[in-house]
Amino acid sequence: MRVTGPERARLSQRAAIASVVMALTLLIAKSWAAIATDSTAMLGSLADTGLDLIASIMTLVGVRIAALPADHDHRFGHGKAEALVALGQVVLITISALGIGWRAIDRLIHGAETANPEIGIGVSIFAIASTLLLLSYQRRVIARTGSVAIKTDNLHYSSDLYLNGAVIAALIIDHFLRVPGADAAFGVAIAGWLLWGAWQAAGDSVDQLMDAEWPVEKREAFLAACGDYPELKGIHDVRTRTSGVHDFIQFHVWVPEDWTVRQAHDKLDRVEEDLQRRFPGTEILLHLDPEGHTDREGMLPHHLTERR
Ligand SMILES: [Zn+2]
Ligand SMILES: [Zn+2]
Repeated sequence: MRVTGPERARLSQRAAIASVVMALTLLIAKSWAAIATDSTAMLGSLADTGLDLIASIMTLVGVRIAALPADHDHRFGHGKAEALVALGQVVLITISALGIGWRAIDRLIHGAETANPEIGIGVSIFAIASTLLLLSYQRRVIARTGSVAIKTDNLHYSSDLYLNGAVIAALIIDHFLRVPGADAAFGVAIAGWLLWGAWQAAGDSVDQLMDAEWPVEKREAFLAACGDYPELKGIHDVRTRTSGVHDFIQFHVWVPEDWTVRQAHDKLDRVEEDLQRRFPGTEILLHLDPEGHTDREGMLPHHLTERR
């Protein structure tokens, strides 16, 4: 079940703090391993962890801002701070991906000697274990909060499992099997995978910032619920958008011409209250039209407004 308000803020912030603590721990462990092994793959892994730390701190800040209640200047709340932070993280992921790719190609051309592979392998196994713990914790928080910023963070840390696995593979193949260029091929593949993830995460954030309509199933579910109220028979001009955890829906309703303002208000207020209870975190804004009235064409072209 989704949670809202202070409970959601508390969960999101705790998840963000957990990733900061893990990134800090891994930064120290990987610095030691990068020096001990002199491995380029481990150095790439270290660079990635450094970016993770920055990204996790950005998430922490973004989640905090998004949790702020609506104020004088932001009367729709601060939910889009999350999408902005997620977009910032996309930039960081892209930088890590290009860095790893570049490093891999450089290694492919020039080759490199590694030492103490057992330290690099040990640290990578430690990184995989702690990342798995963080991922399952984050997934539980995402299921309850729907936070875009934590989802992006989670996506990145999933890709880190492959990164750490590739470091292990690179060290084994490079040091024990003495196959030149094999670990560089891993590096190129990981870089491509990271870029793909960044591309998808960018789409989610851009959708929110661009006020994209709700996904079709969500929109249809709401309209199906509206069908339960005879007062909403004349629903039209439905528009939806999302800002962080807040969903907004606005629409027009045709009501009988002879209803007084008081009657229309009281009937629809009850419906609105009921719908708000069924769709928590959704703000409903409705506008009344006398039955059969056709609105003049406004912001939206007519084929998008009348009926549905
Ligand atoms: Zn209308
Ligand atoms: Zn009212």
